[in-house]
Amino acid sequence: MTKELDGYIVVLGCKICGKCDNVCPTGALQKENGMVKIDYKKCILCMACVEVCPNKALIYME
Ligand code: SF4
Ligand code: SF4
Repeated sequence: MTKELDGYIVVLGCKICGKCDNVCPTGALQKENGMVKIDYKKCILCMACVEVCPNKALIYME
């Protein structure tokens, strides 16, 4: 599968509200050690988590 985007998402200042893992279509987001961790093998860069995070803690990096 070819991805249109080839960057990645970083987590900065997560408040563990749990909103992002509810919207991730591939289960790439897991809570671990007091913050959300992204499984980059599962992430398809759909940006749903970036849009839903109320704290802007998920940032797309090119
Ligand atoms: S960009 Fe999409 S697939 Fe990747 S972690 Fe966020 S919600 Fe999941
Ligand atoms: S939506 Fe944002 S603040 Fe909430 S758990 Fe996800 S990364 Fe953390």
